[in-house]
Amino acid sequence: MSSIRERLAQDAAAVRQALALEQDEARSEVQALLQAELGVSRAYLLAHPERVLTEQELSRYQASLQRRLQGEPLAYILGEREFYGLNFKVTPATLIPRPDTELLVELALARISSAGARVLDLGTGSGAIALSIAHGRPDVEVMAVDASEAALSVAQENAGRLRIRNASFVLGDWFAALGGMRFDLIVSNPPYIAANDRHLAQGDLRFEPACALASGADGLHDIRHIISEAGAHLAAGGWLMLEHGYDHAAQVRALLREAGFNNIHSDKDLAGIERVSGGQLHGSA
Ligand code: GLN
Repeated sequence: MSSIRERLAQDAAAVRQALALEQDEARSEVQALLQAELGVSRAYLLAHPERVLTEQELSRYQASLQRRLQGEPLAYILGEREFYGLNFKVTPATLIPRPDTELLVELALARISSAGARVLDLGTGSGAIALSIAHGRPDVEVMAVDASEAALSVAQENAGRLRIRNASFVLGDWFAALGGMRFDLIVSNPPYIAANDRHLAQGDLRFEPACALASGADGLHDIRHIISEAGAHLAAGGWLMLEHGYDHAAQVRALLREAGFNNIHSDKDLAGIERVSGGQLHGSA
């Protein structure tokens, strides 16, 4: 027989050891797997440590636990991840939304001044950024683009689940499908890891789509492309905001300057690292 108390104690220790996690983190991952299997809240787990899992619950839970012990990301096993207070479906076709990316959403929401503004999210993946903006500002129109049909269908499903009606979805490679469309704000969390970065062979990144992570020898291939094309798709005074790598801020600001942007600045993520840089096209200096 296996009680919640026993599973938590034994399995958190196993997860901690297999994945080199902190104790609290390992425990909260096991709690998340138990919650998903039993369909209960964290409070329920804490209140009913003596509750015994049925055979069926136990075998399904153990299958999930094994996947996690093999290194598969928790978000893919659970099939969802919370981002900006919303629950997003995620699959191996989409990057797993990171807490750091909430900074880009906050900056975007702060930048939108008028109702009816047109916002573009390039490389939307699960739709985390586009749908968080659309949810926060039901009075603006958000267009979400992705080159992956599988990712785009996850984003569309998330819009349905979250009952978001002011977002539309376009299949295409960055700006390629957008013709002469112009926007007041363009945001993106593009791939930005250098192709030979050893982090790509570690942790969750091993299971995430390479096309959402790696971008040429210096990690800036896609960012260069987006910055060079953005001018043709921004309305006068429009803003471009990009998430980028921990050591990219100065280079991204230089690229924005060369492309004619004004009011260029970078903002720091939760770890105090410059993580988002942006600028305004034809803004007043
Ligand atoms: N921030 C992610 C990481 O370092 C990378 C996401 C990206 O390339 N856009 O794990």
